[in-house]
Amino acid sequence: MKTFEELGVDPVIIRAIREIGYESPMPVQEEVIPYLLGNNNEVIALAQTGTGKTAAFGLPILQKINRKQVQPQAVVLCPTRELCLQIADDLKDYSKYMDDLKVTPVYGGSSIESQIRALRRGVHIIVATPGRLIDLINRKAADLKSVRDVVLDEADEMLNMGFSESIDEILAVVPENRNMLLFSATMPTGIAKIAKKYMRTPKEITIGRKNEGAQNVRHIFYMVNAKDKYLVLKRIADYNPNIYGIIFCRTKKETQEIADLLIKDGYNADSLHGDLSQVQRDYVMQKFRIRNIQLLVATDVAARGLDVDDLTHIINYGLPDDIESYTHRSGRTGRVGKTGTSIAIIHLKEKHKVKDIEKQINKKFEQGAIPTGKQICERQLFSLVDKIEKVSVNEEEIQSIMPSIYRKLDWLDKEDVIKRLISLEFNRLIDYYQDAGEIEMPQEGERRRKGERQTYERGAGRSSGKGTGRASEKGFSRLFINLGKIDGLRPQAIIGLMNDNIPGRKIEVGRIDLLKNFSFFEVRETDRDRVIRALDGVKAFGRRLAVEEAQASPSEDRKKQIEGKGRAPRYRGN
Ligand code: AMP
Repeated sequence: MKTFEELGVDPVIIRAIREIGYESPMPVQEEVIPYLLGNNNEVIALAQTGTGKTAAFGLPILQKINRKQVQPQAVVLCPTRELCLQIADDLKDYSKYMDDLKVTPVYGGSSIESQIRALRRGVHIIVATPGRLIDLINRKAADLKSVRDVVLDEADEMLNMGFSESIDEILAVVPENRNMLLFSATMPTGIAKIAKKYMRTPKEITIGRKNEGAQNVRHIFYMVNAKDKYLVLKRIADYNPNIYGIIFCRTKKETQEIADLLIKDGYNADSLHGDLSQVQRDYVMQKFRIRNIQLLVATDVAARGLDVDDLTHIINYGLPDDIESYTHRSGRTGRVGKTGTSIAIIHLKEKHKVKDIEKQINKKFEQGAIPTGKQICERQLFSLVDKIEKVSVNEEEIQSIMPSIYRKLDWLDKEDVIKRLISLEFNRLIDYYQDAGEIEMPQEGERRRKGERQTYERGAGRSSGKGTGRASEKGFSRLFINLGKIDGLRPQAIIGLMNDNIPGRKIEVGRIDLLKNFSFFEVRETDRDRVIRALDGVKAFGRRLAVEEAQASPSEDRKKQIEGKGRAPRYRGN
Protein backbone atom coordinates (compact mmCIF):
# COMPACT_ATOMS: atom_id res chain seq x y z
CA MET A 1 0.00 0.00 0.00
CA LYS A 2 1.33 3.44 -0.92
CA THR A 3 1.35 6.54 1.26
CA PHE A 4 -0.27 9.85 0.37
CA GLU A 5 3.24 11.26 -0.05
CA GLU A 6 4.07 8.56 -2.58
CA LEU A 7 0.90 9.38 -4.51
CA GLY A 8 2.18 12.93 -4.91
CA VAL A 9 -0.23 14.68 -2.54
CA ASP A 10 0.96 18.11 -1.40
CA PRO A 11 2.22 18.25 2.24
CA VAL A 12 -0.17 21.09 3.01
CA ILE A 13 -3.10 18.80 2.14
CA ILE A 14 -1.55 15.81 3.90
CA ARG A 15 -1.33 17.85 7.09
CA ALA A 16 -5.07 18.56 6.94
CA ILE A 17 -6.20 15.02 6.10
CA ARG A 18 -4.00 13.53 8.82
CA GLU A 19 -5.86 15.72 11.28
CA ILE A 20 -9.16 14.17 10.22
CA GLY A 21 -7.69 10.71 10.58
CA TYR A 22 -6.75 9.70 7.03
CA GLU A 23 -3.55 7.77 7.63
CA SER A 24 -3.24 5.91 4.36
CA PRO A 25 -5.07 6.07 1.03
CA MET A 26 -8.14 3.96 0.37
CA PRO A 27 -8.01 1.83 -2.82
CA VAL A 28 -9.95 4.27 -5.00
CA GLN A 29 -7.61 7.04 -3.87
CA GLU A 30 -4.53 4.99 -4.62
CA GLU A 31 -5.70 4.48 -8.19
CA VAL A 32 -7.26 7.84 -8.94
CA ILE A 33 -5.09 10.45 -7.21
CA PRO A 34 -1.79 9.98 -9.09
CA TYR A 35 -3.64 9.68 -12.36
CA LEU A 36 -5.63 12.89 -11.85
CA LEU A 37 -2.53 14.76 -10.74
CA GLY A 38 -1.21 14.20 -14.27
CA ASN A 39 -2.33 16.39 -17.14
CA ASN A 40 -5.52 15.97 -19.15
CA ASN A 41 -6.44 12.70 -17.55
CA GLU A 42 -10.07 11.71 -17.32
CA VAL A 43 -11.59 9.03 -15.15
CA ILE A 44 -14.75 6.98 -14.98
CA ALA A 45 -14.87 5.33 -11.58
CA LEU A 46 -17.40 2.78 -10.59
CA ALA A 47 -17.39 3.46 -6.87
CA GLN A 48 -20.02 3.70 -4.21
CA THR A 49 -20.44 6.07 -1.33
CA GLY A 50 -18.16 5.04 1.47
CA THR A 51 -15.24 4.07 -0.73
CA GLY A 52 -13.39 7.35 -0.23
CA LYS A 53 -14.19 8.83 -3.62
CA THR A 54 -14.59 12.41 -2.41
CA ALA A 55 -10.93 12.58 -1.47
CA ALA A 56 -10.03 10.62 -4.63
CA PHE A 57 -11.22 13.46 -6.84
CA GLY A 58 -11.05 16.21 -4.21
CA LEU A 59 -7.36 16.09 -3.35
CA PRO A 60 -6.00 16.34 -6.92
CA ILE A 61 -8.54 19.01 -7.81
CA LEU A 62 -7.55 21.10 -4.81
CA GLN A 63 -3.89 20.62 -5.53
CA LYS A 64 -4.28 21.85 -9.12
CA ILE A 65 -6.15 25.04 -8.24
CA ASN A 66 -4.32 28.26 -8.96
CA ARG A 67 -5.25 30.26 -5.87
CA LYS A 68 -4.14 33.56 -7.39
CA GLN A 69 -6.73 33.22 -10.12
CA VAL A 70 -9.98 33.84 -8.25
CA GLN A 71 -12.36 32.27 -10.75
CA PRO A 72 -14.19 28.93 -10.72
CA GLN A 73 -11.65 26.38 -11.92
CA ALA A 74 -13.53 23.23 -10.93
CA VAL A 75 -17.19 22.29 -10.73
CA VAL A 76 -18.52 19.30 -8.83
CA LEU A 77 -22.06 18.32 -9.77
CA CYS A 78 -24.06 16.09 -7.45
CA PRO A 79 -27.71 15.13 -7.12
CA THR A 80 -28.78 16.41 -3.70
CA ARG A 81 -28.37 19.34 -1.36
CA GLU A 82 -27.06 17.06 1.40
CA LEU A 83 -24.37 15.57 -0.78
CA CYS A 84 -23.51 19.03 -2.08
CA LEU A 85 -22.94 20.32 1.44
CA GLN A 86 -21.08 17.17 2.41
CA ILE A 87 -18.66 17.41 -0.52
CA ALA A 88 -18.11 21.13 0.02
CA ASP A 89 -17.39 20.49 3.69
CA ASP A 90 -14.95 17.70 2.89
CA LEU A 91 -13.13 19.92 0.40
CA LYS A 92 -12.95 22.69 2.98
CA ASP A 93 -11.51 20.25 5.50
CA TYR A 94 -8.90 18.99 3.05
CA SER A 95 -7.90 22.56 2.16
CA LYS A 96 -7.78 23.82 5.74
CA TYR A 97 -4.15 24.91 5.34
CA MET A 98 -4.47 26.22 1.78
CA ASP A 99 -4.87 29.91 2.50
CA ASP A 100 -7.52 31.79 0.54
CA LEU A 101 -8.87 28.75 -1.24
CA LYS A 102 -12.62 29.20 -1.64
CA VAL A 103 -15.13 26.39 -2.06
CA THR A 104 -18.81 27.32 -2.37
CA PRO A 105 -21.81 25.00 -2.32
CA VAL A 106 -24.88 26.08 -4.33
CA TYR A 107 -28.06 24.05 -4.24
CA GLY A 108 -31.81 24.39 -4.70
CA GLY A 109 -34.27 25.03 -1.90
CA SER A 110 -32.24 27.81 -0.34
CA SER A 111 -31.97 31.55 -0.94
CA ILE A 112 -30.38 32.17 -4.33
CA GLU A 113 -29.42 35.72 -3.34
CA SER A 114 -26.96 34.65 -0.68
CA GLN A 115 -25.45 32.14 -3.12
CA ILE A 116 -25.10 34.90 -5.72
CA ARG A 117 -23.33 37.04 -3.14
CA ALA A 118 -21.00 34.18 -2.24
CA LEU A 119 -20.11 33.61 -5.89
CA ARG A 120 -19.53 37.33 -6.46
CA ARG A 121 -17.06 37.40 -3.58
CA GLY A 122 -14.91 35.02 -5.62
CA VAL A 123 -14.56 31.23 -5.57
CA HIS A 124 -12.22 28.56 -6.92
CA ILE A 125 -14.46 25.48 -6.69
CA ILE A 126 -18.23 25.33 -7.05
CA VAL A 127 -20.07 22.31 -5.69
CA ALA A 128 -23.58 22.36 -7.13
CA THR A 129 -26.83 20.62 -7.79
CA PRO A 130 -27.43 20.96 -11.55
CA GLY A 131 -30.72 22.89 -11.54
CA ARG A 132 -29.46 25.62 -9.23
CA LEU A 133 -26.21 25.99 -11.14
CA ILE A 134 -28.16 26.61 -14.34
CA ASP A 135 -30.21 29.32 -12.58
CA LEU A 136 -26.97 30.93 -11.45
CA ILE A 137 -25.43 30.70 -14.92
CA ASN A 138 -28.56 32.31 -16.39
CA ARG A 139 -28.36 35.13 -13.85
CA LYS A 140 -24.72 35.65 -14.78
CA ALA A 141 -23.63 34.87 -11.23
CA ALA A 142 -21.68 31.76 -12.18
CA ASP A 143 -19.12 32.08 -14.93
CA LEU A 144 -17.61 28.76 -15.94
CA LYS A 145 -15.26 29.84 -18.69
CA SER A 146 -12.14 29.15 -16.58
CA VAL A 147 -13.26 25.72 -15.44
CA ARG A 148 -10.71 22.97 -16.08
CA ASP A 149 -12.21 20.05 -14.14
CA VAL A 150 -15.81 18.89 -13.99
CA VAL A 151 -16.78 16.12 -11.60
CA LEU A 152 -20.07 14.27 -11.94
CA ASP A 153 -20.59 12.61 -8.60
CA GLU A 154 -23.25 9.93 -8.20
CA ALA A 155 -23.82 10.35 -11.92
CA ASP A 156 -26.33 7.48 -12.09
CA GLU A 157 -28.39 9.14 -9.37
CA MET A 158 -28.36 12.43 -11.26
CA LEU A 159 -29.67 10.69 -14.37
CA ASN A 160 -32.36 8.95 -12.32
CA MET A 161 -33.46 12.33 -11.05
CA GLY A 162 -33.80 13.64 -14.59
CA PHE A 163 -30.75 15.94 -14.59
CA SER A 164 -29.49 14.69 -17.96
CA GLU A 165 -30.45 17.84 -19.87
CA SER A 166 -29.20 20.12 -17.13
CA ILE A 167 -25.81 18.41 -17.28
CA ASP A 168 -25.74 18.95 -21.05
CA GLU A 169 -26.60 22.60 -20.54
CA ILE A 170 -23.82 23.09 -17.99
CA LEU A 171 -21.19 21.30 -20.03
CA ALA A 172 -22.09 23.52 -22.99
CA VAL A 173 -20.69 26.58 -21.13
CA VAL A 174 -17.52 24.89 -19.88
CA PRO A 175 -14.41 25.06 -22.14
CA GLU A 176 -14.01 21.99 -24.32
CA ASN A 177 -10.53 21.10 -23.17
CA ARG A 178 -11.76 20.45 -19.63
CA ASN A 179 -11.18 17.18 -17.79
CA MET A 180 -14.21 15.16 -16.83
CA LEU A 181 -14.31 12.87 -13.85
CA LEU A 182 -17.30 10.66 -13.56
CA PHE A 183 -18.18 8.74 -10.39
CA SER A 184 -21.08 6.36 -10.35
CA ALA A 185 -22.20 3.36 -8.32
CA THR A 186 -23.65 1.66 -11.39
CA MET A 187 -23.04 2.03 -15.10
CA PRO A 188 -26.41 2.36 -16.82
CA THR A 189 -26.52 3.16 -20.55
CA GLY A 190 -27.16 6.85 -19.84
CA ILE A 191 -23.76 7.11 -18.19
CA ALA A 192 -22.03 5.34 -21.05
CA LYS A 193 -23.67 7.85 -23.38
CA ILE A 194 -22.41 10.83 -21.37
CA ALA A 195 -18.95 9.32 -21.33
CA LYS A 196 -18.99 8.79 -25.06
CA LYS A 197 -20.32 12.25 -25.80
CA TYR A 198 -18.14 14.29 -23.48
CA MET A 199 -15.03 12.37 -22.58
CA ARG A 200 -11.88 11.67 -24.57
CA THR A 201 -10.17 8.43 -23.51
CA PRO A 202 -11.07 8.08 -19.86
CA LYS A 203 -9.39 5.59 -17.60
CA GLU A 204 -11.97 3.20 -16.21
CA ILE A 205 -11.65 2.12 -12.62
CA THR A 206 -13.86 -0.26 -10.70
CA ILE A 207 -13.64 -0.27 -6.95
CA GLY A 208 -15.47 -3.13 -5.28
CA ARG A 209 -17.70 -2.36 -2.36
CA LYS A 210 -15.19 -1.72 0.29
CA ASN A 211 -17.89 -1.54 2.85
CA GLU A 212 -18.96 -5.07 3.21
CA GLY A 213 -18.71 -6.81 6.54
CA ALA A 214 -16.53 -5.08 9.02
CA GLN A 215 -13.97 -3.95 6.46
CA ASN A 216 -14.89 -0.30 6.75
CA VAL A 217 -14.90 -0.21 10.53
CA ARG A 218 -12.03 1.55 12.28
CA HIS A 219 -11.04 -0.03 15.57
CA ILE A 220 -9.62 2.32 18.16
CA PHE A 221 -8.71 1.71 21.76
CA TYR A 222 -8.16 4.32 24.44
CA MET A 223 -5.97 3.20 27.29
CA VAL A 224 -7.05 4.93 30.48
CA ASN A 225 -6.78 4.70 34.23
CA ALA A 226 -9.82 2.97 35.68
CA LYS A 227 -10.91 6.11 37.48
CA ASP A 228 -11.01 8.06 34.20
CA LYS A 229 -13.12 5.68 32.15
CA TYR A 230 -16.29 7.70 32.41
CA LEU A 231 -14.48 10.99 31.76
CA VAL A 232 -12.99 9.56 28.61
CA LEU A 233 -16.37 8.29 27.49
CA LYS A 234 -17.74 11.81 27.82
CA ARG A 235 -14.82 13.28 25.93
CA ILE A 236 -15.39 10.87 23.08
CA ALA A 237 -19.06 11.86 22.98
CA ASP A 238 -18.17 15.56 23.17
CA TYR A 239 -15.58 15.19 20.44
CA ASN A 240 -18.17 13.62 18.12
CA PRO A 241 -21.16 15.95 18.37
CA ASN A 242 -23.11 13.96 15.77
CA ILE A 243 -22.42 10.62 17.36
CA TYR A 244 -25.21 8.04 17.06
CA GLY A 245 -24.07 4.94 18.83
CA ILE A 246 -24.36 2.16 21.34
CA ILE A 247 -22.23 2.01 24.48
CA PHE A 248 -21.83 -1.59 25.56
CA CYS A 249 -21.37 -2.31 29.25
CA ARG A 250 -20.71 -5.63 30.91
CA THR A 251 -23.47 -5.72 33.50
CA LYS A 252 -27.01 -4.44 33.88
CA LYS A 253 -25.93 -2.43 36.91
CA GLU A 254 -23.10 -0.72 35.08
CA THR A 255 -25.38 -0.09 32.10
CA GLN A 256 -27.90 1.72 34.27
CA GLU A 257 -25.20 3.59 36.16
CA ILE A 258 -23.51 4.93 33.04
CA ALA A 259 -26.82 5.87 31.43
CA ASP A 260 -27.88 7.72 34.59
CA LEU A 261 -24.62 9.62 34.70
CA LEU A 262 -24.83 10.59 31.05
CA ILE A 263 -28.40 11.80 31.46
CA LYS A 264 -27.44 13.78 34.54
CA ASP A 265 -24.59 15.35 32.60
CA GLY A 266 -26.95 16.51 29.89
CA TYR A 267 -26.38 13.90 27.19
CA ASN A 268 -29.11 12.53 25.03
CA ALA A 269 -28.82 8.98 26.37
CA ASP A 270 -30.88 6.09 27.70
CA SER A 271 -30.37 2.52 28.90
CA LEU A 272 -31.40 -0.86 27.54
CA HIS A 273 -30.98 -3.95 29.68
CA GLY A 274 -32.75 -6.99 30.99
CA ASP A 275 -34.07 -5.37 34.16
CA LEU A 276 -36.42 -3.22 32.12
CA SER A 277 -39.85 -4.56 31.20
CA GLN A 278 -40.53 -5.49 27.58
CA VAL A 279 -42.69 -2.39 27.18
CA GLN A 280 -39.89 -0.17 28.50
CA ARG A 281 -37.37 -1.83 26.22
CA ASP A 282 -39.60 -1.42 23.16
CA TYR A 283 -40.07 2.23 24.04
CA VAL A 284 -36.33 2.89 24.38
CA MET A 285 -35.53 1.01 21.18
CA GLN A 286 -38.13 2.97 19.26
CA LYS A 287 -36.76 6.27 20.57
CA PHE A 288 -33.28 5.20 19.55
CA ARG A 289 -34.40 4.08 16.09
CA ILE A 290 -35.94 7.45 15.34
CA ARG A 291 -32.83 9.14 16.77
CA ASN A 292 -34.58 10.74 19.70
CA ILE A 293 -31.73 9.18 21.64
CA GLN A 294 -28.15 9.64 20.46
CA LEU A 295 -26.40 7.30 22.87
CA LEU A 296 -27.86 4.01 23.93
CA VAL A 297 -26.16 2.31 26.85
CA ALA A 298 -26.84 -1.41 26.55
CA THR A 299 -25.89 -4.92 27.52
CA ASP A 300 -25.05 -7.36 24.74
CA VAL A 301 -28.13 -9.46 25.30
CA ALA A 302 -30.63 -6.60 25.38
CA ALA A 303 -29.18 -4.97 22.26
CA ARG A 304 -29.73 -8.12 20.22
CA GLY A 305 -33.28 -7.20 19.33
CA LEU A 306 -32.22 -3.85 17.98
CA ASP A 307 -31.70 -3.48 14.27
CA VAL A 308 -30.30 -0.09 13.36
CA ASP A 309 -28.14 0.34 10.30
CA ASP A 310 -26.52 3.72 10.39
CA LEU A 311 -24.69 3.83 13.71
CA THR A 312 -21.60 6.02 13.64
CA HIS A 313 -19.94 4.53 16.71
CA ILE A 314 -19.86 1.48 18.90
CA ILE A 315 -18.26 2.08 22.25
CA ASN A 316 -17.02 -0.80 24.34
CA TYR A 317 -17.01 0.43 27.91
CA GLY A 318 -14.43 -2.20 28.70
CA LEU A 319 -13.89 -5.21 26.47
CA PRO A 320 -16.18 -8.23 26.62
CA ASP A 321 -14.73 -11.52 27.83
CA ASP A 322 -15.33 -13.34 24.59
CA ILE A 323 -14.07 -12.16 21.22
CA GLU A 324 -17.32 -13.18 19.53
CA SER A 325 -19.16 -10.48 21.44
CA TYR A 326 -16.67 -7.86 20.25
CA THR A 327 -17.19 -8.93 16.64
CA HIS A 328 -20.97 -8.70 17.07
CA ARG A 329 -20.75 -5.34 18.77
CA SER A 330 -18.44 -3.76 16.19
CA GLY A 331 -20.40 -5.32 13.31
CA ARG A 332 -23.29 -3.07 14.27
CA THR A 333 -21.53 -0.08 12.75
CA GLY A 334 -20.20 0.37 9.22
CA ARG A 335 -23.24 -1.18 7.62
CA VAL A 336 -24.89 -0.51 4.27
CA GLY A 337 -22.05 1.27 2.64
CA LYS A 338 -21.26 3.52 5.62
CA THR A 339 -18.06 3.77 7.57
CA GLY A 340 -18.07 3.26 11.31
CA THR A 341 -15.85 3.37 14.35
CA SER A 342 -15.61 0.81 17.09
CA ILE A 343 -14.02 2.22 20.22
CA ALA A 344 -12.80 0.34 23.25
CA ILE A 345 -12.11 2.19 26.49
CA ILE A 346 -9.81 -0.12 28.35
CA HIS A 347 -7.27 -0.26 31.13
CA LEU A 348 -3.81 -1.71 31.03
CA LYS A 349 -4.77 -5.20 32.07
CA GLU A 350 -7.14 -5.50 29.10
CA LYS A 351 -4.37 -4.83 26.58
CA HIS A 352 -3.84 -8.53 25.89
CA LYS A 353 -7.48 -8.80 24.84
CA VAL A 354 -6.84 -6.21 22.14
CA LYS A 355 -4.17 -8.48 20.68
CA ASP A 356 -6.51 -11.50 20.74
CA ILE A 357 -9.25 -9.54 19.01
CA GLU A 358 -6.83 -8.22 16.37
CA LYS A 359 -5.92 -11.79 15.47
CA GLN A 360 -9.54 -12.80 15.23
CA ILE A 361 -10.77 -9.88 13.12
CA ASN A 362 -7.55 -9.72 11.15
CA LYS A 363 -7.33 -5.98 11.62
CA LYS A 364 -5.18 -3.72 13.75
CA PHE A 365 -6.50 -1.42 16.43
CA GLU A 366 -5.30 2.17 16.44
CA GLN A 367 -4.40 3.59 19.82
CA GLY A 368 -6.46 6.75 20.24
CA ALA A 369 -5.21 9.88 21.95
CA ILE A 370 -7.77 11.24 24.39
CA PRO A 371 -9.17 14.45 22.90
CA THR A 372 -7.99 17.54 24.73
CA GLY A 373 -10.38 20.20 25.97
CA LYS A 374 -9.17 22.51 23.21
CA GLN A 375 -9.80 19.93 20.49
CA ILE A 376 -13.28 19.30 21.83
CA CYS A 377 -14.13 22.99 21.95
CA GLU A 378 -12.99 23.34 18.35
CA ARG A 379 -15.01 20.34 17.18
CA GLN A 380 -18.13 21.50 18.95
CA LEU A 381 -17.83 24.97 17.56
CA PHE A 382 -17.39 23.69 14.04
CA SER A 383 -20.41 21.50 14.53
CA LEU A 384 -22.36 24.60 15.52
CA VAL A 385 -21.03 26.50 12.51
CA ASP A 386 -22.01 23.56 10.36
CA LYS A 387 -25.54 23.68 11.73
CA ILE A 388 -25.72 27.40 11.07
CA GLU A 389 -24.62 26.73 7.51
CA LYS A 390 -27.08 23.92 6.94
CA VAL A 391 -30.18 25.13 8.75
CA SER A 392 -33.04 25.55 6.31
CA VAL A 393 -34.38 29.08 6.57
CA ASN A 394 -38.12 29.46 6.49
CA GLU A 395 -38.00 32.63 4.43
CA GLU A 396 -41.74 33.27 4.53
CA GLU A 397 -42.27 32.90 8.25
CA ILE A 398 -39.13 34.72 9.29
CA GLN A 399 -39.62 37.64 6.96
CA SER A 400 -41.88 39.68 9.23
CA ILE A 401 -39.53 39.73 12.22
CA MET A 402 -36.26 40.18 10.36
CA PRO A 403 -36.48 43.97 9.83
CA SER A 404 -36.69 44.66 13.57
CA ILE A 405 -33.85 42.21 14.25
CA TYR A 406 -31.71 43.88 11.58
CA ARG A 407 -32.50 47.25 13.17
CA LYS A 408 -31.50 45.99 16.62
CA LEU A 409 -28.20 44.58 15.38
CA ASP A 410 -27.59 47.38 12.94
CA TRP A 411 -24.67 48.78 14.95
CA LEU A 412 -22.74 45.50 14.71
CA ASP A 413 -20.85 44.50 11.62
CA LYS A 414 -20.97 40.97 10.21
CA GLU A 415 -17.81 39.79 12.02
CA ASP A 416 -19.18 41.02 15.33
CA VAL A 417 -22.49 39.25 14.87
CA ILE A 418 -20.71 35.99 14.03
CA LYS A 419 -18.37 36.36 17.01
CA ARG A 420 -21.27 36.91 19.37
CA LEU A 421 -23.25 34.01 17.96
CA ILE A 422 -20.30 31.69 18.35
CA SER A 423 -19.54 33.02 21.83
CA LEU A 424 -22.95 31.84 23.02
CA GLU A 425 -21.60 28.30 22.77
CA PHE A 426 -17.88 28.98 23.13
CA ASN A 427 -18.19 30.60 26.56
CA ARG A 428 -20.06 27.58 27.89
CA LEU A 429 -17.48 25.14 26.56
CA ILE A 430 -14.45 27.07 27.65
CA ASP A 431 -16.00 27.51 31.08
CA TYR A 432 -16.11 23.75 31.47
CA TYR A 433 -12.95 22.64 29.78
CA GLN A 434 -10.49 25.28 30.93
CA ASP A 435 -10.60 23.85 34.44
CA ALA A 436 -11.23 20.22 33.62
CA GLY A 437 -7.51 19.54 33.09
CA GLU A 438 -6.21 16.86 30.76
CA ILE A 439 -6.59 13.17 31.38
CA GLU A 440 -3.39 11.21 31.75
CA MET A 441 -2.88 7.93 30.00
CA PRO A 442 -1.57 5.11 32.17
CA GLN A 443 2.03 4.14 31.63
CA GLU A 444 2.81 0.56 30.77
CA GLY A 445 4.12 -1.18 33.87
CA GLU A 446 2.38 1.20 36.25
CA ARG A 447 0.46 -0.74 38.86
CA ARG A 448 -3.01 0.44 39.64
CA ARG A 449 -3.12 2.03 43.02
CA LYS A 450 -5.38 0.33 45.47
CA GLY A 451 -8.44 2.28 46.45
CA GLU A 452 -8.08 4.52 43.41
CA ARG A 453 -10.73 7.12 43.34
CA GLN A 454 -13.66 6.94 40.99
CA THR A 455 -14.02 10.45 39.69
CA TYR A 456 -17.13 11.97 38.27
CA GLU A 457 -16.53 15.22 36.50
CA ARG A 458 -19.74 16.90 35.51
CA GLY A 459 -20.17 17.03 31.75
CA ALA A 460 -19.99 19.83 29.26
CA GLY A 461 -23.28 18.21 28.34
CA ARG A 462 -25.30 18.93 25.28
CA SER A 463 -28.02 21.31 26.30
CA SER A 464 -27.08 24.84 27.15
CA GLY A 465 -27.13 25.73 30.80
CA LYS A 466 -26.65 22.15 31.86
CA GLY A 467 -23.56 20.54 33.26
CA THR A 468 -21.21 23.46 33.32
CA GLY A 469 -19.90 22.57 36.75
CA ARG A 470 -16.17 22.06 37.20
CA ALA A 471 -14.18 19.54 39.12
CA SER A 472 -12.73 20.76 42.43
CA GLU A 473 -13.16 24.34 41.60
CA LYS A 474 -12.84 27.53 43.51
CA GLY A 475 -15.91 28.50 45.45
CA PHE A 476 -16.84 24.90 46.22
CA SER A 477 -16.61 23.02 49.50
CA ARG A 478 -15.85 19.34 49.73
CA LEU A 479 -18.13 17.35 52.01
CA PHE A 480 -17.71 13.89 53.48
CA ILE A 481 -20.64 11.46 53.67
CA ASN A 482 -20.59 8.11 55.46
CA LEU A 483 -22.11 6.22 52.53
CA GLY A 484 -20.11 4.51 49.81
CA LYS A 485 -20.42 2.21 46.86
CA ILE A 486 -20.95 -0.69 49.21
CA ASP A 487 -24.21 0.96 50.31
CA GLY A 488 -25.28 1.32 46.68
CA LEU A 489 -24.60 5.06 46.70
CA ARG A 490 -24.52 6.63 43.26
CA PRO A 491 -24.14 10.25 42.19
CA GLN A 492 -27.86 10.55 41.47
CA ALA A 493 -28.61 9.34 44.99
CA ILE A 494 -26.55 12.20 46.47
CA ILE A 495 -28.52 14.66 44.40
CA GLY A 496 -31.73 12.84 45.35
CA LEU A 497 -30.85 13.14 49.04
CA MET A 498 -30.52 16.88 48.66
CA ASN A 499 -33.69 17.23 46.64
CA ASP A 500 -35.59 15.26 49.29
CA ASN A 501 -34.18 17.04 52.32
CA ILE A 502 -33.51 20.60 51.23
CA PRO A 503 -36.60 22.48 50.13
CA GLY A 504 -36.50 25.37 47.68
CA ARG A 505 -33.70 26.21 45.27
CA LYS A 506 -31.75 23.30 43.78
CA ILE A 507 -28.28 22.78 45.23
CA GLU A 508 -25.51 22.75 42.67
CA VAL A 509 -23.24 19.73 43.04
CA GLY A 510 -19.63 19.74 41.87
CA ARG A 511 -17.29 16.82 41.79
CA ILE A 512 -18.39 13.55 43.36
CA ASP A 513 -15.87 10.92 44.49
CA LEU A 514 -17.44 7.61 45.41
CA LEU A 515 -15.28 5.29 47.49
CA LYS A 516 -16.03 1.88 48.79
CA ASN A 517 -17.23 2.79 52.26
CA PHE A 518 -17.72 6.54 52.13
CA SER A 519 -17.72 9.36 49.62
CA PHE A 520 -17.05 13.01 48.97
CA PHE A 521 -19.04 15.55 47.07
CA GLU A 522 -18.75 19.25 46.44
CA VAL A 523 -21.31 21.97 46.89
CA ARG A 524 -20.98 25.72 46.64
CA GLU A 525 -19.34 27.24 49.72
CA THR A 526 -22.46 29.34 50.23
CA ASP A 527 -24.56 26.16 50.42
CA ARG A 528 -22.14 24.22 52.65
CA ASP A 529 -23.74 24.86 56.04
CA ARG A 530 -27.25 24.47 54.72
CA VAL A 531 -26.42 21.08 53.21
CA ILE A 532 -24.63 19.85 56.33
CA ARG A 533 -27.52 20.99 58.56
CA ALA A 534 -30.08 19.35 56.31
CA LEU A 535 -28.33 15.99 55.80
CA ASP A 536 -26.26 15.32 58.93
CA GLY A 537 -28.25 12.97 61.16
CA VAL A 538 -30.96 12.23 58.61
CA LYS A 539 -31.99 8.58 58.24
CA ALA A 540 -31.36 7.19 54.78
CA PHE A 541 -30.07 3.96 53.25
CA GLY A 542 -31.04 2.26 56.51
CA ARG A 543 -28.73 4.30 58.71
CA ARG A 544 -28.14 7.73 60.17
CA LEU A 545 -26.14 9.92 57.81
CA ALA A 546 -22.97 11.66 58.85
CA VAL A 547 -22.14 14.64 56.68
CA GLU A 548 -19.36 17.10 57.47
CA GLU A 549 -16.80 19.22 55.73
CA ALA A 550 -13.92 17.03 54.55
CA GLN A 551 -10.64 17.52 56.39
CA ALA A 552 -7.08 16.44 55.82
CA SER A 553 -7.70 13.78 58.46
CA PRO A 554 -11.00 12.84 60.02
CA SER A 555 -12.01 14.38 63.32
CA GLU A 556 -11.51 12.17 66.36
CA ASP A 557 -15.24 11.73 66.76
CA ARG A 558 -15.65 10.79 63.19
CA LYS A 559 -12.76 8.35 63.39
CA LYS A 560 -14.51 6.57 66.18
CA GLN A 561 -17.74 6.64 64.29
CA ILE A 562 -16.17 5.15 61.19
CA GLU A 563 -13.97 2.67 62.98
CA GLY A 564 -16.87 1.65 65.12
CA LYS A 565 -18.66 0.58 61.96
CA GLY A 566 -15.67 -1.44 60.84
CA ARG A 567 -14.88 0.90 58.00
CA ALA A 568 -11.44 1.89 56.78
CA PRO A 569 -10.65 5.25 58.35
CA ARG A 570 -8.54 6.26 55.33
CA TYR A 571 -10.04 9.10 53.47
CA ARG A 572 -8.60 12.00 51.67
CA GLY A 573 -9.41 15.57 52.32
CA ASN A 574 -8.97 18.53 50.02
P1 AMP B 1 -16.68 8.98 0.72
O1 AMP B 1 -16.80 7.75 -0.15
O2 AMP B 1 -15.89 10.05 0.07
O3 AMP B 1 -18.04 9.43 1.18
O4 AMP B 1 -15.83 8.59 2.02
C1 AMP B 1 -16.31 7.65 2.96
C2 AMP B 1 -15.74 7.87 4.33
O5 AMP B 1 -14.37 7.49 4.38
C3 AMP B 1 -15.79 9.31 4.80
O6 AMP B 1 -16.19 9.30 6.14
C4 AMP B 1 -14.37 9.79 4.67
O7 AMP B 1 -14.10 10.81 5.61
C5 AMP B 1 -13.58 8.53 4.97
N1 AMP B 1 -12.27 8.48 4.30
C6 AMP B 1 -11.98 8.84 3.04
N2 AMP B 1 -10.69 8.62 2.78
C7 AMP B 1 -10.12 8.09 3.89
C8 AMP B 1 -8.82 7.63 4.23
N3 AMP B 1 -7.81 7.66 3.38
N4 AMP B 1 -8.64 7.14 5.47
C9 AMP B 1 -9.65 7.10 6.36
N5 AMP B 1 -10.91 7.51 6.09
C10 AMP B 1 -11.16 8.00 4.87
